Amino acid sequence: MKCHLCGGGLKAIVTDMPFKLSRKTIVILKELPVSQCEGCGEFLIEDSVMERAESIFEKVDEATEIKIVQYAA
Ligand SMILES: [Zn+2]
Repeated sequence: MKCHLCGGGLKAIVTDMPFKLSRKTIVILKELPVSQCEGCGEFLIEDSVMERAESIFEKVDEATEIKIVQYAA
């Protein structure tokens, strides 16, 4: 897989990443496995990872302002 922006090589890393779900809800996923471009630094999230992230987001109460979830848990 190559970076869709610059065509650079990707390396697999584990990072913490915030996702804004709505105007007031932010979820931070800890230890999310992503790919980072070695050229431009862009993060790429694979479909299977995104699907699991979305299933985590579905469980977040919409009244929550900020929630930190371990992706791997
Ligand atoms: Zn790139």
